[in-house]
Amino acid sequence: MAEIVILGAGPTGISAAYHLEKKGFYDYKIFEKEPNIGGLCRSIRQDGFTFDFTGHLLHINDEYFRQFLQETINFEDFNNINRRSFVYSENTFTKYPYQINLHGLPTATIAQCLAGFIKRKKIRKKNKSFYDWVIENFGSGFAKYFFVPYQEKIFSYDIKKLSATWTGRFVPQTSLIEMINGALKDNETKIGYNSNFIYPKQGGINFWVNKIAEKIKNRVHTNFCVEKVDLVNKIVHFTNGEQENFKHLITTIPLDHLLNNLKEDSTTTLYRSANNLLCNSVINFNIGLKGNVSDKHWIYYPEKQYPFYRVGFWHNFSQLMAPEGHSSLYGEFSFLNKSNKYQNLILKKSLNHAYKLFEINTKDIVTQKVITIKHAYVIYNHWRDKHVPEILNILKTYNVNSIGRYGAWKYSSMQEAILDGKKVVDQIII
Ligand SMILES: Cc1cc2nc3c(=O)[nH]c(=O)nc-3n(C[C@H](O)[C@H](O)[C@H](O)COP(=O)(O)OP(=O)(O)OC[C@H]3O[C@@H](n4cnc5c(N)ncnc54)[C@H](O)[C@@H]3O)c2cc1C
Repeated sequence: MAEIVILGAGPTGISAAYHLEKKGFYDYKIFEKEPNIGGLCRSIRQDGFTFDFTGHLLHINDEYFRQFLQETINFEDFNNINRRSFVYSENTFTKYPYQINLHGLPTATIAQCLAGFIKRKKIRKKNKSFYDWVIENFGSGFAKYFFVPYQEKIFSYDIKKLSATWTGRFVPQTSLIEMINGALKDNETKIGYNSNFIYPKQGGINFWVNKIAEKIKNRVHTNFCVEKVDLVNKIVHFTNGEQENFKHLITTIPLDHLLNNLKEDSTTTLYRSANNLLCNSVINFNIGLKGNVSDKHWIYYPEKQYPFYRVGFWHNFSQLMAPEGHSSLYGEFSFLNKSNKYQNLILKKSLNHAYKLFEINTKDIVTQKVITIKHAYVIYNHWRDKHVPEILNILKTYNVNSIGRYGAWKYSSMQEAILDGKKVVDQIII
């Protein structure tokens, strides 16, 4: 029996453990199903290349997060990087974000984007969709050329059914003057939460989580996969036959798994909800090759002809991500249907497009790695907005806090994962 049990050793679970110990509290146990910690912040080493589970870049927008990093890492182990990211459409590279970097696009596109922005109107209705939000904030031109095709690709979901509650700091807003400036000339202004970031000099993003975990005294119990959670008797059962009683449970495993794995007599309304929680999956393909494939950090692809929504370049985050004289790239495409039978076909098409776009001679390819991220982007539909807060509140009545990106079923960053771990500890240990 441990007073507090933590499920999952991704950044949120590790942060909860760190903050418990910071308060001098050691009567807790942390369990993780994989052999290694890190969750989505794991890294794979293959043939001298390091690949993360797609680009994982540390953005610092919060004062406590900065202070936490000062306590846990040495900033000298990280590169401090200013974003070089682009959008590729109509055979043109424009800087990201699209809305303030129209320069270089066909005149008709620029005219439609600016006119649409000027003519945009407030949409007066309850439960606005993400599409309504785009039309209201950016107008029909930006919707047509960037937001609609790009967001439908990343979410694999009809954006007229997507709610707008997640947009917050993820979609940078701007002014007409800034848009016109960016349409007339190359714009040096950088906006958005990801204009600057830090990234480990070596070891990929997993280096970062490992540095935090090094500060924790209690061991992480790896290879412990949750099989059932008995809310009433407060017991977690694991697939290896072990079990653990708890007084408080901090769970960071995906909420749909948790609900599906509740012991039947716990509460029926809760586990019936699991099937309504929607989340897409991402296929992340990685290529390590001879020579330098690009000097950019990443590129967004809104157009339908490209199956991927983004391609990025590991060696530009840190030169140690690839052996000397080599470079590496990653691409991402998403799908909603859990068993998408066309995945292999889409992957093949994606690789062929990547070879063409970046003039890759297949003879120069040293290694390739395909990673499936089963839970990637939570779908913010109106069902989620209404019911997830209710579900989380019901769980709290059993002393269960379901937190983190997938525990709270939300769109959030590594910074937020650390803050979520701190917040729950501050609530439990007063
Ligand atoms: C495509 C993509 C790109 C991203 N890029 C960025 C970025 O650039 N910058 C950024 O800040 N954030 C980024 N993120 C978000 C970031 O990955 C998450 O915010 C962060 O990993 C959330 O941490 P977590 O601990 O809540 O979840 P996770 O990292 O998913 O950790 C949950 C842990 O629970 C474990 N677990 C699951 N099921 C069980 C079970 N049954 N039993 C026991 N353990 C279990 C898992 O193995 C995992 O270790 C990105 C996310 C995605 C999907």
